[in-house]
Amino acid sequence: MPPKQPTTRIPILDLYTQYSTIKAEIDEAMERVVRASAFAGGPFVDTFQEEFAAYCGIGHGVGVSSGTTAIELVLKALGIGAGDEVITVPNTFIATAESIAHTGATPVFADVLENTLNLDPEKLEAAITPRTKAIIPVHLYGHIAEMDSICDIAGKHGIPVVEDAAQAHGSKYHDRRAGAFGVAATFSFYPGKILGAFGDAGIVLTNDGDLAWRMRSMANHGRTDHHDHELLGYNFRMGGLQAAVLSAKLRHLDGWLKKRKEQSRLYARLLSDSSIRTPVELEGCDHVHTYYVIRSERRDQLKQTLNEADIESGIHYPIPVHLQPAFSDLGYSPGDFPVAERAAGEILSLPIYAELADEHIERVARVLTSAV
Ligand SMILES: *Cc1c(COP(=O)(O)O)cnc(C)c1O
Repeated sequence: MPPKQPTTRIPILDLYTQYSTIKAEIDEAMERVVRASAFAGGPFVDTFQEEFAAYCGIGHGVGVSSGTTAIELVLKALGIGAGDEVITVPNTFIATAESIAHTGATPVFADVLENTLNLDPEKLEAAITPRTKAIIPVHLYGHIAEMDSICDIAGKHGIPVVEDAAQAHGSKYHDRRAGAFGVAATFSFYPGKILGAFGDAGIVLTNDGDLAWRMRSMANHGRTDHHDHELLGYNFRMGGLQAAVLSAKLRHLDGWLKKRKEQSRLYARLLSDSSIRTPVELEGCDHVHTYYVIRSERRDQLKQTLNEADIESGIHYPIPVHLQPAFSDLGYSPGDFPVAERAAGEILSLPIYAELADEHIERVARVLTSAV
């Protein structure tokens, strides 16, 4: 394959360059799957789900087709459905709320903290009703939510916590990795996530062996044996090619996280004298910066200035979920979640990935500081 043409444009993500740095390992991994014709589920999925669960320090991993189906699967395996409520945050990717709604349960939102933009434990407690059957904190951008308080509140009410860790591969809180706090945790391996497949993939992690068994069966048509279907299931299987690519990439994850940490510190230092707010990392937390998200009241202007300087940026996410037309039947209105709504107008995601050169970060910071 010819190398990609050099460009002065700084993309928000550069998956081809990542691939070129580990091409031999990835190509070899994919060839082994093709040779074994192990495409849907199978030994490569078994291996990867064990490796990733072990990396996170959790007992069981159930590989699935995406981060979205991972959430739906765990909620269904917990017996959640019509008449139930599940609490989450409004400033997440729509998949969190969508998966709740697809079980038949009602998504209930609670506002977030001003510093990390993660679930506010006080707002969570106020949102609990007798119908609340699960709580899904989202580790937004790669910073773990306030898991001590959230798990205390959930425990007091006997409600299971499911972590949406789609943006938090390897992220730590008091030396435990994301995924170790709730009854289960879901991850996405969408190509743009820190650990990304060559297509869609996801996983659920849990230390509960019975829950893992139910999810493994339900993700594969409720099979208990080749022709026996005890549970009503789905086709939520992970593909063998995705699993093999992910196993190869997992060996590089810690190196990539280290690089991201250095890059986030460089951004923070270069932007420290400006009016731009850089991401907060709370005591005892290890932020992995799936997205490097700054805040400014002049966000739209900054985005345009970056674009004119050939620098891509993103917004995760400009419209909070409770104001999306798809959820208009829930009856929320602007003003219901002021912290999340204000943030939606101020957040801007800058390029960050292990292959991004320091000079590029300096260029991004220069454009931003001269614009404000
Ligand atoms: C990406 C993402 C998902 C969905 O994952 P997919 O693999 O794209 O289905 C869910 N929740 C959050 C917070 C995400 O960032």
